[in-house]
This record gives sequence, C-alpha cells and structure tokens, in this order.
Amino acid sequence: MSEQLVFREASVDLRAVRANVAALAAHVGTPHVMAVVKANAYGHGAVPVARAALAGGADWLGVADIAEAIALRDAGIDAPVLAWLHDPDVIFDEAIARGISIGISTLGQLDAVTDASRRVGAPARLHLKVDTGLSRNGIPEEDWATAVESAGSLQESGDIVVEGLFSHLSNASPEEDAAQRERFEAAIATAEAHGVAPELLHLASTAAAITRPECRFTMVRLGIGIYGLSPWSDSTPDVPLVPAMTLRGRVANVRRVAAGTGASYDYQWRAPRDTTLVLVPLGYAEGIPRQASGRAEVWIAGKRHPVVGRIAMDQFIVDVGDLSVAVGDPVVVFGDPATGAPSADDWAVAAGTINYEIVTRIGHRVQRHYVE
Ligand SMILES: *Cc1c(COP(=O)(O)O)cnc(C)c1O
Repeated sequence: MSEQLVFREASVDLRAVRANVAALAAHVGTPHVMAVVKANAYGHGAVPVARAALAGGADWLGVADIAEAIALRDAGIDAPVLAWLHDPDVIFDEAIARGISIGISTLGQLDAVTDASRRVGAPARLHLKVDTGLSRNGIPEEDWATAVESAGSLQESGDIVVEGLFSHLSNASPEEDAAQRERFEAAIATAEAHGVAPELLHLASTAAAITRPECRFTMVRLGIGIYGLSPWSDSTPDVPLVPAMTLRGRVANVRRVAAGTGASYDYQWRAPRDTTLVLVPLGYAEGIPRQASGRAEVWIAGKRHPVVGRIAMDQFIVDVGDLSVAVGDPVVVFGDPATGAPSADDWAVAAGTINYEIVTRIGHRVQRHYVE
C-alpha cells in the first residue's frame, strides 16, 4: 500500500480484483466468465479493472452502453465485450466495426443492427436477450419466437452472428428465480428450434452465480463480486473476496470546541462535551451520501470515529473526542473491514442503500490510485 497521502483518493487494489475474479471463476466452473465493468467499473475505473479481470481469468467484459465498450477499445482492450442498453436512436455501425457484441432487446434493434451490418459489410455479433420476468429490458416472451425466427434467417444469410442468448434475474426468491430459469430454458429451446443455438447462454449475475449452480449455464456475468463486495445486504458470499476500493482523504482542519458548540448546517449536532472536530474533505460531490449524516463512521489513527452534523457538498466533520489528530493525517472513509476500517456496506447501512451505490457514486474529484 502506498503511504503517499492524497487529498481525496480512491485506492483500487487490482490484485484484489484479479484474485476475486479467479476465486469466483473457480467457484462457478463455467466455461466462460464475464466481468461487468459498466459505470466506470462501479466507480473503480473501467480500463484498469477490465485488464485486471481479464488477467484473473474473465474472458468477456460487459457494459451497459456502447460508448463504454468503445472506451475500452480506445484503450486498446480487444477482449470480447458485450453492450446491452441502447439509445433509441443508436447507430450500431461503429460497434460492429470495432467488434463489440450487441445485446438485442427489441425487434426494432434487430432491424437496426441488420441495416448497420449491411452498411459496414461485416456481420454484427449479437446476444439476444429475453425478458423472463424482470420486466425491464429484453425481448418480451410473446415476441421471442418472431425474434429468433428472424435472427435464424439473418444468420443463414450471413448478416448477423448470434453468439449468445441471455436474460437477467430479479434475485427475488429461490422460487421466483427458478421460474425465471425455466422460462429462460424454454426460450433457449424455442431458439434452437429455429436454428439459433449459440454457445453462450447466460442468466446469472454475482448473486445467482454464487448460490445457484442451475443458473450458471455456460457463462456468468460478475459485477459486484469482482470488486470484493457482497451482492446481499444481510450476508456475505462463501467465496473469499477482498474489497478492492479504499476511499481515503487527509484531515483538512482540526478544531477544539466547547460543549454546546453547533457544527455544520442546521446545527443538526451540538458537542455534548468539550471535544475535537476533524474536517474531512469529502462530501456528496464525492458520492458521500448526505443521508449518512450523523450515522456513519470513519477510521482515524486506528479507530472508528463518528461522522457528526450534516455531510455537505465538499466536506464532513468527525468527532474524535480527545484524540490528538493533526492536519494532514490520513482518514479512511471505507475500505476492507478486515483492517478494522468501516466498509462500503457500513456506509450503505448508514445511508439506507446498498454497497453497489456507495462505490459507484464516488465522484470525479476523487483521484483513483491503482495498486498493481
Ligand atoms: C449490472 C449487471 C450485472 C452485474 O450484476 P452484479 O449483481 O453486480 O453481479 C449482470 N448483468 C446485467 C444485465 C447487469 O445489468
């Protein structure tokens, strides 16, 4: 770990990402593993995380937007990458030309991608997505037969290549996941009946990949787990995972205050005794949730201390009692709980949200630092 102190820093341990991917890949045992690096790799940095995930054994990358896939290509990453959420007016030409695989969720997208393939003079690589019950993206079941029939003949004529079939689970309950899995299997059978029988069949994200072998098919799509975080708020996976991100700052100010002194906006908090307040230069612009005001803790000098008063745009206050803290000292906002520091999960509980949101919202003023 670097000892160099930075004002606001998210340190991302790429060795942890590599090890998490390797541990999850060994646990699931599928022929293919997709590392999901959408939304700047859940705030961790898409390009370095993608490289680390590939080094750890992932053979596919997943993103939401085509622009995210193009950014990976621009960085020189030529591994297979799938993008699955499209602007209604999207032009697929560049994606096809750059070898980006495209998730198809509507019959209109199938038409648009076919036109683009003909313009580019190369077949688009497609993963057809069926809605098995999430009611979000995906081809509705009533359109599925039409879609795979059309895809089958477009594949015959060389306009497209169907590389995969996929769907996404609600992770609602074992019974509901099983119902979605059965609908996915039925969709696969319908596709096969129309000559669409690709090798890549994928349904599970981290949660189901870990706990439901029958949902793994030939590939799993791993997001939160590769960052070393649990997909559940009430339990941790049976796979050894290490949180990759440590969010740090430097103490920007220290102030001794008398009992009764108010602090931060609205004086939501007043000092119950004479105490020392420490100013930490991260606020909701950095993704520090304002809802966690007065509920979260940070790690200073080997101990947890409470965040007091309102979290502001650029800063928050910590009550360190009679501890001696100096301007410039390091503060860990969250990191690996094995070190004693609060975790992204602790912040999620404090803010009434999930760990996914805590890491993904880390803002652009936070410098990313990568540990190889
Ligand atoms: C974000 C996403 C994933 C990854 O989910 P995790 O719970 O983070 O593993 C997988 N598949 C799709 C379609 C997604 O949008």
